[in-house]
Amino acid sequence: MYCKQCGKEIADNSVFCQHCGCKQDAKTTPSEKKIIEITTTTINLSDKSKKWLVIYGAWFLMTLIFLFYDEEDYYEFSMFLIYAIFLPYVIWGGVWLYKKKSSKDSK
Ligand SMILES: [Zn+2]
Repeated sequence: MYCKQCGKEIADNSVFCQHCGCKQDAKTTPSEKKIIEITTTTINLSDKSKKWLVIYGAWFLMTLIFLFYDEEDYYEFSMFLIYAIFLPYVIWGGVWLYKKKSSKDSK
């Protein structure tokens, strides 16, 4: 079963959680267990993509700064859209296709 307070796995029929000491008054229902599993998976996924989100965030800010500080005025909004959204999207699509292809080849 799972602790209703911290969500960690504890021995079945435990009265108290070994991890946080929370009193367990009822068994964890299957639906609660499912929710905990989904939450854990989501956290793991976001940890993986965190690095890419940071890189993209930095890139997005960089293009924004260029847009507002460019004195030559040739860096237009359409260019901002291309660099901030279109280009990362194309790169991401390329990486995704490459990964898909390489996983197929390995099989
Ligand atoms: Zn606990």
